[in-house]
Amino acid sequence: MNNKYKILLVEDEANIRNLVSAMLESAGYQVLSAGTCATAKVLYGSHRPDLIILDLGLPDRDGRTLLELVRRESATPVIVLSARSDEQDKVEALDMGANDYITKPFGSAELLARVRSALRSTHQTSGSAYLPEGKFRTADLVIDYDARRIFRGDVEVHLTQTEYNIVALLSRHPGKVLTYTAIIREIWGYPDEGSTKKLQVNMANIRKKLGVRPGENSYIVNELGVGYRMCAADNHS
Ligand code: CA
Repeated sequence: MNNKYKILLVEDEANIRNLVSAMLESAGYQVLSAGTCATAKVLYGSHRPDLIILDLGLPDRDGRTLLELVRRESATPVIVLSARSDEQDKVEALDMGANDYITKPFGSAELLARVRSALRSTHQTSGSAYLPEGKFRTADLVIDYDARRIFRGDVEVHLTQTEYNIVALLSRHPGKVLTYTAIIREIWGYPDEGSTKKLQVNMANIRKKLGVRPGENSYIVNELGVGYRMCAADNHS
């Protein structure tokens, strides 16, 4: 088959590389793998993959140099692989233009959901989340962009301007983590000392108004230490 998506997998640990490669191949993707930044650059240049899965800790160069190179040339989606503790790395990679990250260790279902979501984000049909008449839907939540109104089932959710702007912003990137800094910049302009707190307060109010109980991950997921993610329509939990 020639119509398979091509995925470039950049990871120096052979165990992880083989495992991820097997997961992707069994889901029908074509995989090119590289263990160094140098090999990855060559494969990227010669194959123009549809998506890149990138470990940042590589033996020759920091994976971020590849991310920079790719972003200078294209919008190819990049998913960063990272260790559980590296919140700062995740934030930096997202702010540098990575589409998403996945934390090791991860299972096949999680990996494949992220891959589908990232591939969809570049193929602007953007899944079933966008209804034809300028609306967005995830589970029973509907956003009407023209009217700037939000409904949960048949019931309208009354948000302030700022709360609405935050939800609408997240919904424009379903499945993608937006970092705290990125959200603050979009909503309030340049961040100041109180920005993060302001965002947290707004998010708490949004979740309350949406009827989400504390600790429950509905509609909007808080990726601790990194940012917020609007659930995509197909992997809502
Ligand atoms: Ca590594």
